[in-house]
Amino acid sequence: MQVINGEGYFVGRVKDICLIVNNTCHAALLIENAEGQETEILLDEISAIGDAILLKQKLKQKGVKNQISHCPSCGTELDADALFCPECGKKIR
Ligand SMILES: [Zn+2]
Repeated sequence: MQVINGEGYFVGRVKDICLIVNNTCHAALLIENAEGQETEILLDEISAIGDAILLKQKLKQKGVKNQISHCPSCGTELDADALFCPECGKKIR
């Protein structure tokens, strides 16, 4: 089943349903995007299920301008929450 985010973009397909266990147990959907990357989405984040699964919020996506920073060492684009540069391995924070 297709998953559509809060802005109407296709984010991936449901691959599986899983449980995330921290202090409590959360049911989550395992989503596989077009690049084959997997993301877990808590059922809380789903706003509607019809022909597709509609999410309340947009998923974090690479390429979204205000979420990009750059590696101070090699200049590679990084996710805003990246801890290390995936290219050169420099610690970002
Ligand atoms: Zn780097």
